Amino acid sequence: MKREETIPVQLGSVIIGGTHPVSVEAMGRTNPASVDACLAEILSVMAVGADVFRVAVPDEEALDGLLEVKKRSPLPLVADIHFCPEMAVRAALQGVEGIRVNPGTLLNQEKYSQLIDILRDQNLVLRLGANTGSLPREHREKDRVEGLFESISDALELPEKKGFSQIILSAKSTEVEETIAIYDRLSRSFPYPLHVGLTEAGEGQEGIVKSSIALGTILRQGIGNNIRVSLTSRDPVDETQVANYILRAVGLHQKGIEVISCPTCARRKGDVVLFVQKVKKAIAHFDRSVSCKVAVMGCEVNGPGEAREADLGLAFGPSTAVLFEHGKVVRTVSQENAWVEFMNRLYDQTQKS
Ligand code: SF4
Repeated sequence: MKREETIPVQLGSVIIGGTHPVSVEAMGRTNPASVDACLAEILSVMAVGADVFRVAVPDEEALDGLLEVKKRSPLPLVADIHFCPEMAVRAALQGVEGIRVNPGTLLNQEKYSQLIDILRDQNLVLRLGANTGSLPREHREKDRVEGLFESISDALELPEKKGFSQIILSAKSTEVEETIAIYDRLSRSFPYPLHVGLTEAGEGQEGIVKSSIALGTILRQGIGNNIRVSLTSRDPVDETQVANYILRAVGLHQKGIEVISCPTCARRKGDVVLFVQKVKKAIAHFDRSVSCKVAVMGCEVNGPGEAREADLGLAFGPSTAVLFEHGKVVRTVSQENAWVEFMNRLYDQTQKS
């Protein structure tokens, strides 16, 4: 897949854009005023593949907390600050790696100008993020894609006049079609990396499907440098995992352990659902830099054949489990011993990768 090349932008330890891999942003749920809780969230999303952590900063107390979090955070932070440019300026002065500015809540051009100067002097990043829910007043009556585009174009004028280019753009809609259209237009119009997301996608399966179609389509067009999935969920681990599954499904993510499993049917000879749940729980603690594909199948009829590509597979037989590697049967064990045998071999596979 050919990727659209953009200016590379250095956000702390992560480079977004250029020829660098698409990275994943997670957004915290806790107020950073609760410093330890916020840091625990950062560690939890990092464990499932987040590269960047965005934090809403609603007030001064939250900003004080964020500055403490920054001292200990292993991930670069993006401070999401609305309506209060003074706080954005303060966050930048304290070296928070990225400041997210929404053109619809950017009320003070003088402070915006000051913010850009600080970001430039400190080598920090401006993330300009428009949203259909908060378009600037002058663009609200327009077609929503046009409104998003115009609000980004307007907000870019000042930094471009100042020669500042460490900018990441995003323009999010709640609609799949609009999201695909606006990112296509941004990609054709500006040289900056794009943070891609569908806003307010919803809860559970519905949100996952909408996000997957929108982000998958955009990424398959070679567009996008950083993604976030926005799900109605108490735990940002959920959306981080979905973001990584999307990257893997479109062929942009080769790391980690991919689990293929059959849906099960009346032919199944073992509890595939339970086995897969146990595998997923166990691999959550594996080193994410390994690359490996495993398969769990409910019967021997289609097992090795369906998962020929897998490094390691297991197909249940009548009271047995057949283990196969790269499509070839390597051992048959009782179902009681299947778990231990499978995990031992999985460990060996990850050592090889
Ligand atoms: S692998 Fe076997 S149990 Fe699973 S869906 Fe296919 S036929 Fe059914």
